[in-house]
Amino acid sequence: MKIGDTVLQVKRNIKKITSLKMAFMLKDYVEKNHPEDEIFIKNMVRQIKCTSALQIYDDDLVRSFFCNQKTCLVCNSIRLAKFLDKYLDKIDDMNHKYHLVLSIRNPGKDDLKQSIDSMYKFFNQSSIKKNKEFVELNKKIIFIRSFETTFNVYMTTYHIHFHCLLAGENETEVKRYGEIMLDYWLKYFGDKADRKAQYLEPQEKSLLENFKYLFKLKDITPSSLPMVYHLLKVTKGKNLFWAKNIKLSKLEKELKESKIKDDTNNQIIQRFFYKNDLKNWIDPETGELFIDDQKENRYKEDIKDQKNYRELQKFFRKQSIDQKENRLMNRKESKK
Ligand SMILES: [Zn+2]
Repeated sequence: MKIGDTVLQVKRNIKKITSLKMAFMLKDYVEKNHPEDEIFIKNMVRQIKCTSALQIYDDDLVRSFFCNQKTCLVCNSIRLAKFLDKYLDKIDDMNHKYHLVLSIRNPGKDDLKQSIDSMYKFFNQSSIKKNKEFVELNKKIIFIRSFETTFNVYMTTYHIHFHCLLAGENETEVKRYGEIMLDYWLKYFGDKADRKAQYLEPQEKSLLENFKYLFKLKDITPSSLPMVYHLLKVTKGKNLFWAKNIKLSKLEKELKESKIKDDTNNQIIQRFFYKNDLKNWIDPETGELFIDDQKENRYKEDIKDQKNYRELQKFFRKQSIDQKENRLMNRKESKK
């Protein structure tokens, strides 16, 4: 693969410019309002650096640094691609799928953490595990859960909820599994959960539609910044995705932790940089790579302790997310 192909693939797959905008916005906000939070500021600097330099090695591979931040569109699209590969592809052929949303009354800033914790606790602490019918179904129904939030900036409240995907071969069983879970959820939360705010319905649209990574990145706006920052603080370290009854192959398990250590002995031949104004790593007119001595020196300083490099070819060898999503949609259509 030529370097030009790699860059083309990178461009097709990521919207780096949006990530940069988010990172600068969040960094400015935290520097002004929470200057003591140096780790957060440092993480936003990581996000700014995410894939900003592509490095060509003497083994002909192109590698780049990835930031792994929740607010990074580049890294989120990687997560989504992995998620698709690992889970959604597997359950696409299941005959019956249901979509379940579980939520509680929207908390404000002060009770956000406690509310989120209680939602997670439901799965371990409610008496649902004593329900024999549930225990039996729990052994076979595929269950994927994703924790998500939307923001109400006028009321300063968070709409926190779980999106769940239930799948199996027997419709009655899948539906029953969802009904029992919903029942116990309402019992567990009492007044805090409104029946009308929950729903269980057959999954009709694209499987992907229900899944975001924590929140929609376009919800980050100047007015939502304080809320976004607070949410990121209280969800730190939380497992946002969770799945059960899906067997992963060995290869997929390896993919799960595919952080590539920067342990290569190969030498970097050349490094080139993303140009914000042109939104590219390559001059579209001349086809030349952007090499920048000033940036080069700064980059070496900034990046020397950071270890999260990935090979871009390996990374993009799979179909792009768009193609995959289309394929899922088309299959759905053709089944009708
Ligand atoms: Zn990133």
